[in-house]
Amino acid sequence: MARKVLTLAEIRDGSLRNVSFEAIAAAKTIADGGEVVAALVGESVQSYADELIYRGADRVVVVENEKLKNYTPDGFGQALMAVVDAEKPEGIVFGHTALGKDLSPKIATKLNSGLISDVISVEQTGGNFVFTRPIYSGKAFEKKIATDGLIFVTVRPNNIPALERDESRTGNVSSLSVDIKDLRTIVKEIVRKTAEGVDLSEAKVIVAGGRGVKSAEGFEPLKELANVLGGAVGASRGACDAGYCDYSLQIGQTGKVVTPDLYIACGISGAIQHLAGMSNSKVIVAINKDPEANIFKVADYGIVGDLFEVVPLLTEEFKKLKV
Ligand code: FAD
Repeated sequence: MARKVLTLAEIRDGSLRNVSFEAIAAAKTIADGGEVVAALVGESVQSYADELIYRGADRVVVVENEKLKNYTPDGFGQALMAVVDAEKPEGIVFGHTALGKDLSPKIATKLNSGLISDVISVEQTGGNFVFTRPIYSGKAFEKKIATDGLIFVTVRPNNIPALERDESRTGNVSSLSVDIKDLRTIVKEIVRKTAEGVDLSEAKVIVAGGRGVKSAEGFEPLKELANVLGGAVGASRGACDAGYCDYSLQIGQTGKVVTPDLYIACGISGAIQHLAGMSNSKVIVAINKDPEANIFKVADYGIVGDLFEVVPLLTEEFKKLKV
């Protein structure tokens, strides 16, 4: 059954986040031949609309307002509800990002609808869309169908492949004027704690360090390897607790959940709480001095050795491949 599906585009540091395109791809499947409408919300965001069309949206609705310069659940909630009222979608797809996790329950509550969150795949079987999502920190998978009229899902970054970019795609871009009522909270300042670079939750390559890295300086060889591979640096809670890096880099049950194409774990023992955040990575490489370390049980490739010898060697070899 063809249906209209709405997605929310996310912008960070002046670029559309890749998960916006993955949401469009998921929406295309759910639309089942129907229309995919992307909502673009912010202070001055119209210029991003064409890119959403190239990535598969049939139409873009732009809501611009100075009160939407920074994300607030209040402001974006009002904007999104106005788009939903105008478009009356039968499906909604957000990214399972910090923003999507915050906003989707609010919108679902207002619409009195269900919500299937953290979806990693969508399949159509027997007239139903079946959504797979990890549960119990990735130790099991649950398959769900939406029994409401509205199918509302959030998709985990890096799992549903985005469509090929195609500049020949065309689509209508319209503006919706929304009177954003006074916000109960406003963002006064954003203080960045980590260096700019590849976003951990969307990175295709992650080089992560644990307590075995031994100091903040010990992260330098990992940063070099990540740079050569165009990836991001992550960490175990052990490394964060020891003060070697910021908690924003923490991966695991109480940190970020990541699914890169390549995860290189350096000096990480592989505690269950760490595995909860990275065991769904496509290829896992573990470097550890201890051949019995638990991380080797989930690794596709294991290197038993001192990370301070192995990591620089890998960096040198990858540099040669790039030349
Ligand atoms: P360790 O367990 O100390 O391992 C260090 C490893 O480095 C060892 O295997 C050692 O052999 C190796 N090593 C040492 N030197 C070298 C060297 N030179 N070269 C190569 N290898 C070397 N942890 C998380 O990561 N993320 C979470 O989200 C998280 N949430 C938690 C939530 C709860 C409720 C609890 C109780 C714990 C949580 N933890 C989490 C902590 C988790 O249980 C572990 O304590 C933590 O992951 C250990 O970090 P680590 O592997 O870096 O350190």
